[in-house]
Amino acid sequence: MSAFPEKAESRESILASVHAARSGDLTADGRAFAFIYDAGESTRALAKEVFAACMPINGLDPTAYPSARTLEVGLVRACLELMRAPEGALGTATSGGTESVMLAVKAARDFAKKTRPEITHPKMLLPLTAHACFHKAAHYLGVEAVTVEVDETFRASLADARAKMTSDVILVVGSAPSYAHGVVDPIVELAALAKEHGALMHVDACVGGLVLPFLREAGLSRVAFDFTVDGVTSISMDLHKYGFAPKGSSMLLVRDRALRDAQYFACATWTGYTIVNSTTLGSKSLAAAGAALAVVRHLGREGYVALARRMWEATSLLVETVVARPELRLLARPDMNLFAFTTTDGDVFELADRLTDRGWHVQPTYGFGPSPAHIHLTLDPTNASRAADFARDLEACLVDLPPRQAPPAEVVAMLGMLASGASDGLEPAMLMASLGIVDGKLPARSAMIHRILDAAPPPVRERLFVTFIGELFS
Ligand SMILES: *Cc1c(COP(=O)(O)O)cnc(C)c1O
Repeated sequence: MSAFPEKAESRESILASVHAARSGDLTADGRAFAFIYDAGESTRALAKEVFAACMPINGLDPTAYPSARTLEVGLVRACLELMRAPEGALGTATSGGTESVMLAVKAARDFAKKTRPEITHPKMLLPLTAHACFHKAAHYLGVEAVTVEVDETFRASLADARAKMTSDVILVVGSAPSYAHGVVDPIVELAALAKEHGALMHVDACVGGLVLPFLREAGLSRVAFDFTVDGVTSISMDLHKYGFAPKGSSMLLVRDRALRDAQYFACATWTGYTIVNSTTLGSKSLAAAGAALAVVRHLGREGYVALARRMWEATSLLVETVVARPELRLLARPDMNLFAFTTTDGDVFELADRLTDRGWHVQPTYGFGPSPAHIHLTLDPTNASRAADFARDLEACLVDLPPRQAPPAEVVAMLGMLASGASDGLEPAMLMASLGIVDGKLPARSAMIHRILDAAPPPVRERLFVTFIGELFS
C-alpha cells in the first residue's frame, strides 16, 4: 500500500486506526506520576467540546477573528488576576511553557537592545535547576546562559547569583517551583538583585502558576513569587499543566507595555500582507486557549483550591513515606506537589524498574551537578487518589533492593571515546543496538540503560538521545 492513500478511506477505519495507535499511550488512570494533569471526566468532556468549537479560529488576524481576541483577553485577565498583576500589566496566550519562556527571553533581549544598547553580549543568570527550555532560548536567541549554583535545598544560591552578576546581564531567572525538585527559588532576593543592576526578572511559574496561588488560599503556602514581588517583570504559567487544559496552552505575562512591544515581531518587508506576531507562531490556533478558559470557568477558584488541597495531602503522604525509610532519601522538601527522591545504598534504577513492574509510571532522572540520579514524581488529582497504594508498593519494592550498580566497563569506555571525540567509526546507533534498543523500543527492564546514560557525560547523553529519537522518526 502506498503511504499516501490513493482513495478515500472510511471514517470508521480512520478512527479505528487512531484509537489503535493511542492504545499504548499513558492515560489518566492514576498510575502515571509524570505527564498527566487531569481534573476528571467533566472537565475533560467540556475541554473537548470547546476545543472542537474553537478549532477554526486563526489568531493570526484578530480583526478577521474577533473571537481570538475575546478568548485570549479573557484568559489573560484571569491569569493576571491570579498573579496579582499591577495596572498596565499584559499577557499573551502561547502554545506551551517552552514558547512562553522563549518569548520572555526574546522580549528581554530586544528590550535591552533598546534601553541598554551598550551591551553587545547579553547574558542571563540561570540557576542550574531552571528548565531546559531556557537553554533552548539561549541557543536560539544568542543570549548566554550563566549558570547559578544552588544551595543544599536546591534553591538558587543568592551569593553565587550576586558573584556572577555583571553589567551585561539583562535577565535573571527564578523558578516557582523548579520541575525536578519542586522548590521555589528565593524570588524576592533574586528580583531585588536584578533590579539593583538594571536587569529584568523572569519567574518561571510554568508548573506552579495554577497551584501555588490556590495553596496560599488554602493556607498551605506562603512563598512569594508573583507580581507583588518588587522587580519581577515577567511570569510564565502553563494552562496545559495544572490549569487542566488540553496540550497547547500556556501564558506569558509582562509587567508593562514596553516589554510586550519588545516581545512582538512585525514584518512589512515582503510581498504579502504585513504581519504582527505576538508569539513564535504565524497562524495561531486558539483551540487550546479557548478550552483552557472554559476549564478555568468550569472549576473556578473553589475547584482549583479543592484540587490543590487534595494534591498537597497526597504529596505530604508520599514525602513522609520517603522520609520514614532509611533506604530512601528525599532530595528536598517540596513547595508543591512534585518532588525528587533517591536511594541511600540501593540501586535507584532497579527501584524504578520494580515500580514499573507493578504498573506505575515514574520518571527516572539522571544525575547532574549536585543533583544525584533520582526518581521524580509529579502528582495530579488522578494519581493523588492512589497515593496510599503507591506508598505501599514503594515500600514493597525496597525489600532486598540490590546495591547501586556500575554500568559495564566496556560501555563506559565507549562513552569515554564518544566524549573525547575520538570515536571514529563508533556509531551511536550501534551503541543503541548494543543496549538492546531495537526499533525504537526499550527493553522491558531499563535499569541497565539508565545506569549507562546516567554515567554518560551530558554532551554524550544528548547525542545518544538525538540518535534514539531520530531513529524513532526515521
Ligand atoms: C513544563 C515546564 C516548562 C516547559 O513547558 P512545556 O509546556 O513542556 O514546553 C518550563 N518550566 C517548568 C518549570 C516546567 O515545569
